[in-house]
Amino acid sequence: LMQLFRPLDLLGWVYRTIRQGLVDMAEMFRLMDSEVEVEDAPGAPALVIHRPTVTFDNVVFGYESDRTILQGLSFEVPAGDNVAIVGPSGAGKSTIARLLFRFYDPWSGRILIDGKDISQITQTSLRAAIGIVPQDSVLFNETIGYNIAYGKDGTSDQQVMSAARDASILPFIEQLPQGFDTEVGERGLKLSGGEKQRVAIARTLVKNPPILMLDEATSALDSRTEQDILATLHRVSRDRTTLSIAHRLSTIADAHEILVLDQGKLAERGTHSALLQHDGLYAEMWARQANETSA
Ligand code: ATP
Repeated sequence: LMQLFRPLDLLGWVYRTIRQGLVDMAEMFRLMDSEVEVEDAPGAPALVIHRPTVTFDNVVFGYESDRTILQGLSFEVPAGDNVAIVGPSGAGKSTIARLLFRFYDPWSGRILIDGKDISQITQTSLRAAIGIVPQDSVLFNETIGYNIAYGKDGTSDQQVMSAARDASILPFIEQLPQGFDTEVGERGLKLSGGEKQRVAIARTLVKNPPILMLDEATSALDSRTEQDILATLHRVSRDRTTLSIAHRLSTIADAHEILVLDQGKLAERGTHSALLQHDGLYAEMWARQANETSA
């Protein structure tokens, strides 16, 4: 999913460059320019969401004109539900996430949030509505408080504290001598993988997004920490429309629906138990992973 986070990386780079006083404005704008793939439609309104339903309607897309990646994809994530996307490497899972963020536009078909075509609303309002919890988060050489509040301008201390509580990292922060003012990163406290992940969750919660996109969040963690983080994610996604991209099937077995993507098409869809019963690609992937775990 790395491509998805390039704009964030770029922001981090711009930020660090400015901090270090090394800013070369021309270079900075050249880089930012090259990131622009799509533009707001003239006079596009901001997205107003009543029910955060996410719909892909016959979406066809490729990165290069001679190679189609998504071949007419249709699915819906009803408001408040949790839908997981699984499938072999290269199937197009991250591409779905990038299109939902409108880093690219589909060749044909539409992507809708609450019935509104995302190409007809401002990108700022679109991205404000979606929180991502990525696998590897960028933390700034700043205080923990700054790193959490970074999710949104004008965040109050109260909101930062409540996001930290919801991400289950408040007790950890409170036992630090300098609490939220503790510097992290190269200059300060080194956080463990699980702690970093929780800071990232808190940062996302500060945005209070109605839609969550979870990249499989736990690859570098030991299994106890992984279980804890999964429980936290489960809790914070309960009232939000959630799209999870997963590699390990055990993490998404309780999703409302699982979409099995293969070469840009939906090969199968259903609940975990229905898919096992169907005894197709999903059942095969499940059996293989069970083998790997017990080996
Ligand atoms: P993985 O599980 O390995 O992360 P994925 O299902 O998320 O895979 P995608 O990242 O969506 O797969 O990629 C789908 C296809 O699109 C792949 O064949 C990939 O090579 C291609 N692709 C991805 N990004 C680009 C890009 N920027 N330019 C050209 N092709 C790309």
